[in-house]
Amino acid sequence: MPPGCRHGSPNDEGGKQTLNTFTCPSCGALPLSDLQLYQPELFNAHSLRFGPWCARCGARALPKPSLPAGPRPPLLLISGSCASGKSTVSYLLAQRYGCVQIDGDWILHLRRREVGHAPEYPSIDTDMLAMAAGILALGRPVVIAHVILPAQLGIYADFCAARGIPWQMAALLPSEEVLLERNRTRVCWPKTTPEYWVRKFHTDLQDAPDAFKRWYYDNSLETPAETAQRLAERLGLASVAAAAADELPGE
Ligand SMILES: [Zn+2]
Repeated sequence: MPPGCRHGSPNDEGGKQTLNTFTCPSCGALPLSDLQLYQPELFNAHSLRFGPWCARCGARALPKPSLPAGPRPPLLLISGSCASGKSTVSYLLAQRYGCVQIDGDWILHLRRREVGHAPEYPSIDTDMLAMAAGILALGRPVVIAHVILPAQLGIYADFCAARGIPWQMAALLPSEEVLLERNRTRVCWPKTTPEYWVRKFHTDLQDAPDAFKRWYYDNSLETPAETAQRLAERLGLASVAAAAADELPGE
């Protein structure tokens, strides 16, 4: 069965929802039918507001710490400096290939709103991984879009290794010229990111140890749709254009 294939989900058996991997602080264990992946509006042009949320009361649902064993669809990590295309490519993977998007910029914003300050490293990474694990256990592939620098990748690799989660990464590395031009002209954010950070993250990725370089992806000459298609093919994900809409509410 190809990863991301909708058939064979434990939740489909006899039409019953037999598996829940998230709980609501107020309502308790949430069957799939009461899990809403995203809030309806976008955070910016390409960031879905992933919770997931309790469809009964609206609270943010929390992933269960222990999940049943079993095969998992793939987790894709998309890294890259600001304006490299992470959000857009992950959004297209969600819209066209059935991935669930966890966008780091949105999650950082949400956590700041929830606790009044930015989460400290590496809690944001482990937080996103725990949510991804809950979604993967429901049979859906996940894409995390976040500035994952070489020093942080071990957190992701170790988490996945311990849970049998197949993962891949694409560190988007368009040329610096393309990157700065995209940052200057991007329209999805109200203001451009200071060039210091664009250059710094780009340099940190370029200076990565050799073991990390296998994940480099030069998307200078590709449209986001082309990059999304290539990554989907790499993961073995089929296009789900009109499908999957009925699988989880709130999409
Ligand atoms: Zn609830």
